[in-house]
Amino acid sequence: MTERWIHEVHRGDASFGLRVTSFVHAEVSPHQRIEIVETAALGRVLVLDGVFQTAERDERAYHELLAHPALCAARSIARVLVIGGGDGGTAREVLRHPEVERCVMVEIDRAVVEACRAHLPSIGGSAWSDPRLEVRFEDGARFVRECRERFDVVILDGSDPIGPSAGLFGRALYEDVRRLVGDDGLFALQTESPAIDLALFLEMQGALRASFERVHPYFGAVYLYAAGLFSWTVASGVTDPRAPRPARVAAIEAGCAHYDAEVHRAAFAAPPFVRRRLAR
Ligand code: SAM
Repeated sequence: MTERWIHEVHRGDASFGLRVTSFVHAEVSPHQRIEIVETAALGRVLVLDGVFQTAERDERAYHELLAHPALCAARSIARVLVIGGGDGGTAREVLRHPEVERCVMVEIDRAVVEACRAHLPSIGGSAWSDPRLEVRFEDGARFVRECRERFDVVILDGSDPIGPSAGLFGRALYEDVRRLVGDDGLFALQTESPAIDLALFLEMQGALRASFERVHPYFGAVYLYAAGLFSWTVASGVTDPRAPRPARVAAIEAGCAHYDAEVHRAAFAAPPFVRRRLAR
């Protein structure tokens, strides 16, 4: 039988492939092409417009590192906003914190949530039935522009800056988020790979620095994303995100595969080539 593979071509210069054991779901929503495929290496994978989003066997490397540094460093985490995150993994990690009272998730594409709830249930897990979660199906950029509610932590879990996610990158959104979190709150987002997307990473850092007084990138490996070395960033007014609050870490670390207090501190140590470029 001929082997079947799925490849993500990254910016036209590199590709990453996974051997497919079965095609589980495919549809075209008003926003994007949605596929869920079963792969030999990483289990089921969500693919949007041909770009790998998240995989059963390595999603925790991404979702734990996106959510917990900000949630374990913030002064308060009672009210959390998640922008994007239609697979449910970020909301799942947020809701593991007992201090979280309300998590609003603003996802543009209802079809992504429905496909993931049906065919990737392990990622959203218990989040979907948690009474603290409110899911709104609308454009996250417009939501933050018009929102008048304050949040302690905002987490941006969008895709790459193409398609529906394009409006989730850049100063306009970052300044709206700065208003929502105020001086004390934190903003966490994925900031792409400085290994294969250094120019985009630096552009995002510059836009964040123009909108927030403190901007701290941190680093780790996500097997699914091209080039291995990946980054996230926490931006804030006055709060330093690099020191985790022990009680917050203690509340969730037993259930984590990729995050704990040591990882929290170590992740903010930038590779020297990145630190030198940021210092320019
Ligand atoms: N972990 C992935 C990554 O780092 O590339 C992102 C995962 S998540 C599936 C990305 C989500 O952002 C998708 O569900 C997509 O529909 C949603 N999204 C894209 N543009 C959006 C927008 N403007 N407002 C709200 N959600 C958006």
